[in-house]
Amino acid sequence: MSLVNLQPWLLRAQREGWAVGAFNANTLEQVQAIVLAAQAETAPVLVQISHRALLHVGSGNALLGLRYMAEIGRVAAQSVTVPVGLHLDHANAEEVLAAMALGFTSVMFDGGALSFDDNVAETARLCAIAHSLNVCLEAEVGAVPRADAAGHLDEAVELTRAEDAAAFVAYTQVDTLAIALGSVHAVRAKTVTLDLERLRQIRAAVAVPLVLHGSSGVTDDHIKQGIALGLCKVNIATQLSQAFTAGARGALAGPEEIDPRRYLGPARAAMSERVRERIGFVGAAGKA
Ligand SMILES: [Zn+2]
Repeated sequence: MSLVNLQPWLLRAQREGWAVGAFNANTLEQVQAIVLAAQAETAPVLVQISHRALLHVGSGNALLGLRYMAEIGRVAAQSVTVPVGLHLDHANAEEVLAAMALGFTSVMFDGGALSFDDNVAETARLCAIAHSLNVCLEAEVGAVPRADAAGHLDEAVELTRAEDAAAFVAYTQVDTLAIALGSVHAVRAKTVTLDLERLRQIRAAVAVPLVLHGSSGVTDDHIKQGIALGLCKVNIATQLSQAFTAGARGALAGPEEIDPRRYLGPARAAMSERVRERIGFVGAAGKA
């Protein structure tokens, strides 16, 4: 299929109590691992691209990275029969506009550095453009922090307030809303719990599908409860890096190995297995 806007699947997931997996890719093999897993599980899927992935793929040039990923995503979607959306994660306005022009079907505008009022105004402006192009626009209220390379967190956590979420959605017409419930980006062990009572209050206050960032560090029990309470898009990155790298490391055990296909192939296969497991876990298998 061509790349599609997965908003109808997100709304269906909301009605039926499951979630669409949004899986991060940094390389060609990782994009392939995701769409092959989705095909095997007959699941709708989001291939998710971070700013740092753009810099990697574009050799330091984010716009070049966007062009590469738009083309790779398009070919990957066309190689399978399940619906695939291409999502740009945590982007500024310039990147959001460029991604939409290049064929991304989903974008996240991160106005976290702006005041609440400025974030509302800029998100509303980008939403109007996104909707004219049939692109799904995600934005964030509150902030999901990032752990450092060692997996530690120094920042204070700013959780989302239900009244802010309700006002933000009403003013911006955003399609999906990322909220801060206590999860942290880049945590390597499943030790974090979510503020589920806060999620219950936010879900009662807003109608749009809610998004969980930083799921790799959250206990599966809390992700599952969160999905039942209205999380409809679950972002998964760190767990995939772990699987991909473990696959490569296993194939590199012999010091004489020099053929990139002999470690990138196993890395792709290992990540695809992890994506299949997560698709099943969030309840998206068979929902394409
Ligand atoms: Zn995030």
